[in-house]
Amino acid sequence: MAWDFETEPEFEAKLEWMRHFVREEIIPLETLAHEFRQPGGREMFAKIVAPLKEQVKAQGLWAAHLPPDMGGMGFGQVRLGLMHEILGQCAFAPSVFGNNAPDSGNAELLSVGGTPEQREQWMKPLLAGTMRSCFSMTEPGAGADPTLLTTSAMRDGDEWVINGHKWFSSNASISDFLIVMCKTGDSEHGAYKAYSMIIVPTRTPGVNIVRDVPTMGEPDHKTGEPGGHAEILYENVRVPFANVVGGEAGIGQGFALAQKRLGPGRIHHAMRWLGQSQRAFDMLCERALTRYSHGSILAEKQMIQDWIAESHAEMQAARLL
Ligand SMILES: Cc1cc2nc3c(=O)[nH]c(=O)nc-3n(C[C@H](O)[C@H](O)[C@H](O)COP(=O)(O)OP(=O)(O)OC[C@H]3O[C@@H](n4cnc5c(N)ncnc54)[C@H](O)[C@@H]3O)c2cc1C
Repeated sequence: MAWDFETEPEFEAKLEWMRHFVREEIIPLETLAHEFRQPGGREMFAKIVAPLKEQVKAQGLWAAHLPPDMGGMGFGQVRLGLMHEILGQCAFAPSVFGNNAPDSGNAELLSVGGTPEQREQWMKPLLAGTMRSCFSMTEPGAGADPTLLTTSAMRDGDEWVINGHKWFSSNASISDFLIVMCKTGDSEHGAYKAYSMIIVPTRTPGVNIVRDVPTMGEPDHKTGEPGGHAEILYENVRVPFANVVGGEAGIGQGFALAQKRLGPGRIHHAMRWLGQSQRAFDMLCERALTRYSHGSILAEKQMIQDWIAESHAEMQAARLL
Protein backbone atom coordinates (compact mmCIF):
# COMPACT_ATOMS: atom_id res chain seq x y z
CA MET A 1 0.00 0.00 0.00
CA ALA A 2 1.34 3.44 -0.90
CA TRP A 3 2.05 5.81 1.95
CA ASP A 4 2.36 9.48 1.11
CA PHE A 5 3.02 10.88 4.61
CA GLU A 6 0.43 13.59 4.11
CA THR A 7 -1.20 15.07 7.18
CA GLU A 8 -4.03 17.52 7.76
CA PRO A 9 -3.48 20.97 6.17
CA GLU A 10 -3.39 22.55 9.66
CA PHE A 11 -0.56 20.26 10.74
CA GLU A 12 1.26 20.68 7.42
CA ALA A 13 1.23 24.42 8.16
CA LYS A 14 2.90 23.67 11.51
CA LEU A 15 5.54 21.56 9.77
CA GLU A 16 6.18 24.39 7.33
CA TRP A 17 6.60 26.78 10.26
CA MET A 18 9.08 24.31 11.80
CA ARG A 19 11.13 24.04 8.59
CA HIS A 20 11.47 27.80 8.40
CA PHE A 21 12.17 28.18 12.13
CA VAL A 22 14.85 25.46 12.21
CA ARG A 23 16.55 26.88 9.09
CA GLU A 24 16.45 30.55 10.08
CA GLU A 25 16.70 30.49 13.89
CA ILE A 26 18.36 27.25 15.02
CA ILE A 27 20.84 26.13 12.35
CA PRO A 28 22.72 29.48 12.59
CA LEU A 29 23.50 28.60 16.26
CA GLU A 30 25.90 25.93 14.94
CA THR A 31 28.45 28.70 14.47
CA LEU A 32 28.58 28.88 18.31
CA ALA A 33 28.96 25.10 18.82
CA HIS A 34 32.54 25.46 20.05
CA GLU A 35 31.56 28.11 22.61
CA PHE A 36 28.71 25.94 23.90
CA ARG A 37 31.30 23.25 24.81
CA GLN A 38 33.43 25.62 26.89
CA PRO A 39 32.91 26.18 30.65
CA GLY A 40 29.71 28.18 31.04
CA GLY A 41 28.63 27.13 27.55
CA ARG A 42 25.60 25.21 28.78
CA GLU A 43 24.29 28.34 30.52
CA MET A 44 25.01 30.43 27.43
CA PHE A 45 23.07 27.98 25.26
CA ALA A 46 20.13 28.00 27.72
CA LYS A 47 20.00 31.80 27.66
CA ILE A 48 20.10 32.01 23.87
CA VAL A 49 17.42 29.39 23.26
CA ALA A 50 15.01 30.56 26.01
CA PRO A 51 13.14 33.00 23.70
CA LEU A 52 13.13 30.39 20.92
CA LYS A 53 11.47 27.90 23.27
CA GLU A 54 8.76 30.47 23.96
CA GLN A 55 8.03 30.69 20.23
CA VAL A 56 7.77 26.89 20.06
CA LYS A 57 5.34 26.89 22.99
CA ALA A 58 3.28 29.64 21.36
CA GLN A 59 2.95 27.40 18.29
CA GLY A 60 1.71 24.51 20.48
CA LEU A 61 4.69 22.34 19.51
CA TRP A 62 6.47 22.02 22.88
CA ALA A 63 7.14 18.48 24.25
CA ALA A 64 4.88 17.07 21.57
CA HIS A 65 5.70 13.47 22.54
CA LEU A 66 3.75 13.62 25.81
CA PRO A 67 -0.01 13.34 26.31
CA PRO A 68 -1.87 16.63 26.96
CA ASP A 69 -2.45 15.90 30.66
CA MET A 70 1.35 15.65 31.08
CA GLY A 71 2.08 18.99 29.45
CA GLY A 72 2.48 17.75 25.87
CA MET A 73 0.38 17.67 22.72
CA GLY A 74 -0.48 13.98 22.24
CA PHE A 75 0.30 14.09 18.51
CA GLY A 76 0.81 10.35 17.91
CA GLN A 77 3.70 8.66 16.11
CA VAL A 78 3.10 9.69 12.47
CA ARG A 79 2.99 13.39 13.23
CA LEU A 80 5.88 13.03 15.69
CA GLY A 81 7.88 11.20 13.03
CA LEU A 82 7.34 14.05 10.56
CA MET A 83 8.38 16.56 13.21
CA HIS A 84 11.56 14.62 14.02
CA GLU A 85 12.49 14.53 10.35
CA ILE A 86 12.72 18.32 10.53
CA LEU A 87 14.32 18.47 14.00
CA GLY A 88 17.02 16.01 12.90
CA GLN A 89 18.50 18.61 10.59
CA CYS A 90 20.25 20.31 13.49
CA ALA A 91 21.55 18.79 16.74
CA PHE A 92 20.26 21.80 18.70
CA ALA A 93 16.69 21.65 17.40
CA PRO A 94 15.21 18.84 19.56
CA SER A 95 16.06 20.59 22.84
CA VAL A 96 14.49 23.85 21.60
CA PHE A 97 11.30 21.82 21.08
CA GLY A 98 11.50 20.09 24.52
CA ASN A 99 12.06 16.84 22.70
CA ASN A 100 15.72 15.82 22.93
CA ALA A 101 16.96 12.28 23.50
CA PRO A 102 17.38 10.71 25.94
CA ASP A 103 15.37 13.18 28.06
CA SER A 104 12.27 12.92 25.86
CA GLY A 105 12.17 9.12 26.08
CA ASN A 106 12.77 9.23 29.82
CA ALA A 107 9.99 11.79 30.30
CA GLU A 108 7.72 9.55 28.23
CA LEU A 109 8.71 6.56 30.35
CA LEU A 110 7.92 8.42 33.57
CA SER A 111 4.65 9.68 32.11
CA VAL A 112 3.43 6.14 31.32
CA GLY A 113 5.08 4.22 34.16
CA GLY A 114 6.05 6.61 36.95
CA THR A 115 4.18 7.32 40.16
CA PRO A 116 2.67 10.82 40.60
CA GLU A 117 5.57 11.67 42.95
CA GLN A 118 8.16 10.49 40.39
CA ARG A 119 6.54 12.58 37.68
CA GLU A 120 6.63 15.61 39.93
CA GLN A 121 10.24 15.10 41.06
CA TRP A 122 11.88 13.86 37.84
CA MET A 123 9.62 14.28 34.80
CA LYS A 124 8.61 17.91 35.28
CA PRO A 125 12.22 19.17 35.56
CA LEU A 126 13.01 17.26 32.35
CA LEU A 127 10.20 19.08 30.58
CA ALA A 128 11.31 22.40 32.03
CA GLY A 129 14.86 21.70 30.85
CA THR A 130 16.26 22.19 34.36
CA MET A 131 17.48 18.57 34.60
CA ARG A 132 19.19 16.17 32.19
CA SER A 133 18.81 12.40 32.32
CA CYS A 134 20.24 9.13 31.07
CA PHE A 135 18.85 5.68 30.27
CA SER A 136 21.35 3.09 31.48
CA MET A 137 20.61 -0.40 30.22
CA THR A 138 23.30 -1.84 27.91
CA GLU A 139 26.20 -3.78 29.46
CA PRO A 140 29.49 -5.01 28.01
CA GLY A 141 28.06 -8.56 27.99
CA ALA A 142 24.46 -7.72 27.06
CA GLY A 143 23.21 -5.42 24.30
CA ALA A 144 20.87 -6.78 21.65
CA ASP A 145 19.78 -9.52 24.10
CA PRO A 146 18.80 -7.73 27.31
CA THR A 147 17.74 -10.97 29.03
CA LEU A 148 21.50 -11.34 29.68
CA LEU A 149 21.75 -8.13 31.75
CA THR A 150 23.42 -8.84 35.11
CA THR A 151 23.30 -5.52 36.98
CA SER A 152 21.38 -6.32 40.16
CA ALA A 153 19.33 -4.38 42.68
CA MET A 154 18.81 -6.07 46.05
CA ARG A 155 16.33 -4.74 48.55
CA ASP A 156 17.81 -3.78 51.91
CA GLY A 157 15.12 -2.32 54.17
CA ASP A 158 13.94 0.95 52.65
CA GLU A 159 16.68 0.98 50.04
CA TRP A 160 17.89 -0.70 46.87
CA VAL A 161 21.55 -1.66 46.65
CA ILE A 162 22.72 -1.67 43.03
CA ASN A 163 25.82 -3.39 41.65
CA GLY A 164 26.78 -3.78 38.03
CA HIS A 165 28.61 -2.59 34.95
CA LYS A 166 26.96 -0.60 32.14
CA TRP A 167 28.20 1.16 29.04
CA PHE A 168 26.81 3.22 26.17
CA SER A 169 24.80 5.16 28.77
CA SER A 170 24.30 8.27 26.63
CA ASN A 171 24.47 11.58 28.46
CA ALA A 172 25.32 9.98 31.83
CA SER A 173 28.31 12.21 32.44
CA ILE A 174 26.24 15.39 32.10
CA SER A 175 23.05 14.00 33.64
CA ASP A 176 21.28 14.71 36.92
CA PHE A 177 19.76 11.24 37.16
CA LEU A 178 19.99 7.82 35.56
CA ILE A 179 17.21 5.33 34.92
CA VAL A 180 18.96 2.01 35.46
CA MET A 181 17.66 -1.35 34.24
CA CYS A 182 18.35 -3.83 37.07
CA LYS A 183 17.61 -7.44 37.80
CA THR A 184 15.43 -7.31 40.90
CA GLY A 185 14.90 -11.03 41.39
CA ASP A 186 14.20 -14.27 39.59
CA SER A 187 10.68 -14.70 38.33
CA GLU A 188 8.69 -17.83 37.68
CA HIS A 189 7.47 -15.99 34.57
CA GLY A 190 11.02 -15.84 33.15
CA ALA A 191 13.52 -13.08 32.43
CA TYR A 192 10.92 -10.68 31.06
CA LYS A 193 9.46 -10.26 34.56
CA ALA A 194 12.79 -10.27 36.42
CA TYR A 195 13.91 -6.68 35.76
CA SER A 196 12.89 -3.26 37.03
CA MET A 197 13.91 0.31 36.32
CA ILE A 198 15.34 2.32 39.16
CA ILE A 199 15.95 6.08 39.31
CA VAL A 200 19.47 6.86 40.52
CA PRO A 201 20.64 10.46 41.07
CA THR A 202 23.96 10.63 39.21
CA ARG A 203 25.83 12.03 42.20
CA THR A 204 24.91 9.07 44.44
CA PRO A 205 28.03 7.55 46.08
CA GLY A 206 29.08 4.41 44.19
CA VAL A 207 28.10 5.71 40.73
CA ASN A 208 31.52 5.59 39.11
CA ILE A 209 31.59 7.03 35.59
CA VAL A 210 34.74 5.48 34.16
CA ARG A 211 34.82 7.13 30.73
CA ASP A 212 32.71 8.37 27.84
CA VAL A 213 32.79 5.72 25.11
CA PRO A 214 33.59 7.45 21.80
CA THR A 215 31.08 6.76 19.04
CA MET A 216 29.30 9.84 17.74
CA GLY A 217 31.78 12.64 18.40
CA GLU A 218 30.47 14.06 21.68
CA PRO A 219 33.30 15.09 24.05
CA ASP A 220 34.49 12.99 27.00
CA HIS A 221 33.46 14.71 30.24
CA LYS A 222 37.03 14.59 31.57
CA THR A 223 39.37 14.76 28.59
CA GLY A 224 37.33 16.61 25.97
CA GLU A 225 38.04 13.74 23.57
CA PRO A 226 35.11 12.40 21.52
CA GLY A 227 32.80 10.34 23.74
CA GLY A 228 29.40 10.87 25.36
CA HIS A 229 28.11 7.32 25.94
CA ALA A 230 29.41 6.51 29.39
CA GLU A 231 30.83 3.35 30.85
CA ILE A 232 29.63 3.16 34.46
CA LEU A 233 30.44 0.96 37.43
CA TYR A 234 27.60 0.81 39.96
CA GLU A 235 29.31 -0.13 43.23
CA ASN A 236 26.98 -0.63 46.21
CA VAL A 237 24.83 2.28 45.07
CA ARG A 238 22.05 2.93 47.59
CA VAL A 239 18.82 4.68 46.61
CA PRO A 240 15.40 4.81 48.29
CA PHE A 241 13.09 1.85 47.64
CA ALA A 242 10.53 4.36 46.29
CA ASN A 243 12.86 5.07 43.34
CA VAL A 244 11.74 1.99 41.42
CA VAL A 245 9.79 3.35 38.43
CA GLY A 246 6.11 2.76 39.11
CA GLY A 247 6.70 2.08 42.82
CA GLU A 248 5.94 -1.37 44.23
CA ALA A 249 3.77 -2.14 41.17
CA GLY A 250 6.74 -1.39 38.91
CA ILE A 251 8.83 -4.27 40.25
CA GLY A 252 9.34 -6.77 37.42
CA GLN A 253 7.99 -4.30 34.84
CA GLY A 254 11.38 -3.30 33.38
CA PHE A 255 10.89 -5.03 30.04
CA ALA A 256 7.33 -3.80 29.56
CA LEU A 257 8.45 -0.23 30.29
CA ALA A 258 11.52 -0.58 28.05
CA GLN A 259 9.28 -1.48 25.11
CA LYS A 260 7.14 1.59 25.72
CA ARG A 261 10.21 3.79 25.93
CA LEU A 262 12.39 2.37 23.17
CA GLY A 263 9.73 1.69 20.51
CA PRO A 264 8.80 5.33 19.78
CA GLY A 265 12.42 6.40 20.40
CA ARG A 266 13.67 4.16 17.58
CA ILE A 267 11.22 5.73 15.10
CA HIS A 268 12.24 9.23 16.17
CA HIS A 269 15.96 8.37 15.83
CA ALA A 270 15.41 7.00 12.32
CA MET A 271 13.42 10.06 11.23
CA ARG A 272 16.10 12.40 12.61
CA TRP A 273 18.72 10.60 10.50
CA LEU A 274 16.51 11.15 7.49
CA GLY A 275 16.50 14.83 8.39
CA GLN A 276 20.31 14.78 8.44
CA SER A 277 20.33 13.05 5.05
CA GLN A 278 17.98 15.67 3.63
CA ARG A 279 20.24 18.44 4.84
CA ALA A 280 23.31 16.79 3.28
CA PHE A 281 21.31 16.23 0.09
CA ASP A 282 20.33 19.91 -0.06
CA MET A 283 24.00 20.88 0.31
CA LEU A 284 24.91 18.42 -2.43
CA CYS A 285 22.37 20.00 -4.80
CA GLU A 286 23.40 23.52 -3.89
CA ARG A 287 27.03 22.70 -4.60
CA ALA A 288 26.13 20.99 -7.87
CA LEU A 289 24.22 24.07 -9.01
CA THR A 290 26.94 26.57 -8.11
CA ARG A 291 30.30 24.88 -8.79
CA TYR A 292 31.61 25.45 -12.32
CA SER A 293 34.27 23.07 -13.58
CA HIS A 294 35.42 21.69 -16.95
CA GLY A 295 33.00 23.67 -19.09
CA SER A 296 29.78 23.45 -17.05
CA ILE A 297 28.27 23.52 -13.59
CA LEU A 298 28.48 20.15 -11.79
CA ALA A 299 24.70 19.67 -12.05
CA GLU A 300 25.02 19.31 -15.82
CA LYS A 301 27.40 16.35 -15.59
CA GLN A 302 25.78 12.98 -16.01
CA MET A 303 27.67 11.22 -13.22
CA ILE A 304 26.69 13.93 -10.70
CA GLN A 305 23.05 13.67 -11.82
CA ASP A 306 23.26 9.92 -11.26
CA TRP A 307 24.60 10.37 -7.72
CA ILE A 308 21.85 12.86 -6.89
CA ALA A 309 19.15 10.55 -8.26
CA GLU A 310 20.62 7.56 -6.35
CA SER A 311 20.76 9.53 -3.11
CA HIS A 312 17.19 10.70 -3.50
CA ALA A 313 15.97 7.17 -4.20
CA GLU A 314 17.83 5.80 -1.17
CA MET A 315 16.30 8.45 1.07
CA GLN A 316 12.81 7.69 -0.21
CA ALA A 317 13.35 3.96 0.34
CA ALA A 318 14.56 4.58 3.91
CA ARG A 319 11.58 6.84 4.58
CA LEU A 320 9.15 4.15 3.45
CA LEU A 321 10.74 1.67 5.87
C1 LIG B 1 25.43 5.98 19.78
C2 LIG B 1 24.87 4.96 20.71
C3 LIG B 1 24.11 5.37 21.79
C4 LIG B 1 23.61 4.43 22.68
N1 LIG B 1 22.89 4.88 23.76
C5 LIG B 1 22.48 4.00 24.69
C6 LIG B 1 21.84 4.46 25.89
O1 LIG B 1 21.62 5.65 26.09
N2 LIG B 1 21.50 3.54 26.82
C7 LIG B 1 21.73 2.20 26.65
O2 LIG B 1 21.38 1.43 27.54
N3 LIG B 1 22.33 1.74 25.51
C8 LIG B 1 22.71 2.60 24.54
N4 LIG B 1 23.34 2.14 23.40
C9 LIG B 1 23.60 0.73 23.25
C10 LIG B 1 22.71 0.04 22.23
O3 LIG B 1 21.41 -0.07 22.73
C11 LIG B 1 23.38 -1.30 21.94
O4 LIG B 1 24.52 -1.03 21.18
C12 LIG B 1 22.47 -2.25 21.22
O5 LIG B 1 21.51 -2.73 22.11
C13 LIG B 1 23.26 -3.42 20.62
O6 LIG B 1 24.03 -4.03 21.60
P1 LIG B 1 25.58 -4.38 21.34
O7 LIG B 1 26.24 -3.16 20.81
O8 LIG B 1 26.11 -4.97 22.60
O9 LIG B 1 25.57 -5.43 20.18
P2 LIG B 1 25.47 -7.02 20.31
O10 LIG B 1 24.32 -7.38 21.17
O11 LIG B 1 26.81 -7.55 20.71
O12 LIG B 1 25.20 -7.40 18.82
C14 LIG B 1 26.32 -7.57 17.93
C15 LIG B 1 25.84 -7.75 16.52
O13 LIG B 1 24.98 -8.86 16.41
C16 LIG B 1 23.80 -8.49 15.74
N5 LIG B 1 22.66 -9.24 16.31
C17 LIG B 1 22.30 -9.29 17.59
N6 LIG B 1 21.22 -10.07 17.73
C18 LIG B 1 20.90 -10.52 16.50
C19 LIG B 1 19.87 -11.37 15.99
N7 LIG B 1 18.94 -11.89 16.79
N8 LIG B 1 19.86 -11.62 14.67
C20 LIG B 1 20.79 -11.08 13.85
N9 LIG B 1 21.78 -10.27 14.27
C21 LIG B 1 21.83 -10.00 15.58
C22 LIG B 1 23.65 -7.01 16.01
O14 LIG B 1 22.91 -6.35 15.00
C23 LIG B 1 25.08 -6.55 16.01
O15 LIG B 1 25.53 -6.27 14.71
C24 LIG B 1 23.85 3.05 22.48
C25 LIG B 1 24.59 2.64 21.37
C26 LIG B 1 25.10 3.57 20.51
C27 LIG B 1 25.91 3.10 19.33
